Amino acid sequence: MIEKTLFQKISDREIPASIVYEDDLCLCFKDINPQAPIHLLIVPKKPIVRICQAEVEDAQTLGHLLLTAKKVAEQEGFAETGFRTVINNGKHGGEEVPHLHLHILAGRQMNWPPG
Ligand code: 5GP
Repeated sequence: MIEKTLFQKISDREIPASIVYEDDLCLCFKDINPQAPIHLLIVPKKPIVRICQAEVEDAQTLGHLLLTAKKVAEQEGFAETGFRTVINNGKHGGEEVPHLHLHILAGRQMNWPPG
């Protein structure tokens, strides 16, 4: 049997997390090591490893993650002030958890270029 990813274990409530939104396709919860006053992760329930391993058949799920960012921003009250989305892909991208996730950072002014 294939080992569940860390984020599948959170989705299955085997590891606790502060979940702020859930639907059939994805889950949104607070990052355990926040890099901004608000730092959320939006994770597809399907364990797509990373963007570079997504397939054409994942297009709806990938679009759904972005629309969920909008929904959560409105729900949590930071849609007006703004936010940043980040997807880390692979070694140079700084990816640590091999289960695709969209970072949502909000609650302070973001800088550019990122580190
Ligand atoms: P990556 O570097 O892969 O893009 O981001 C992984 C993120 O997952 C990091 O921001 C890290 O803080 C977060 N993270 C790692 N383990 C856990 C955990 O057990 N619970 C939660 N809520 N977040 C985690």
